[in-house]
Amino acid sequence: MSGSPGLRALFDALAAYPGHDVHDDIVRLVVRLRARDACEYCLLPTVGQFHVDHIVPPGLWDAYAAGRIPTVTPRTGRSGPEHLDNFAWCCPFCNGGKGQRVSRRVGAHAYGLYDPRADRWAEHFVFFHNFLTIIGLTGIGHATEAALRFNTGGLQGPLGPRHEAIVAGRYPPTWARGWSVTGL
Ligand SMILES: [Zn+2]
Repeated sequence: MSGSPGLRALFDALAAYPGHDVHDDIVRLVVRLRARDACEYCLLPTVGQFHVDHIVPPGLWDAYAAGRIPTVTPRTGRSGPEHLDNFAWCCPFCNGGKGQRVSRRVGAHAYGLYDPRADRWAEHFVFFHNFLTIIGLTGIGHATEAALRFNTGGLQGPLGPRHEAIVAGRYPPTWARGWSVTGL
């Protein structure tokens, strides 16, 4: 995790607890800062009511941990479901699209969804249309793009705030600008 030594110490102290409450202000703050203040799926900078997402929903945790979810390989040593290891900072659009899912079918195959704690964003997604759309590059990327509806719903969906953030010079975040294909 990047960030200040103080944040690192706070994170380490919190991570030693066996469980965390997604509604706790300190937990929310640490998850938000770890995410560099942007949705960990679509990278929208925090605006309005963001959520602490359970990457693996609690109702699926036992099946996940036992390796019983096809296409999803459990991470060794991951704590959860109510732990920082299983949390991601998430905008309301991605949160609503993801729901209780951990995988999605694309064509003839199902793929696990992007896991912000295990996967690298730039390996699975790329920007197009001057950052307005996010396209999956891999099976995980395609499944996540479809499930979380990155590019659908017109301006009432995620494209509205994404466009506003682009115009305001806030999207993509500065640390993600090297990950793009632009002008297409
Ligand atoms: Zn999002």
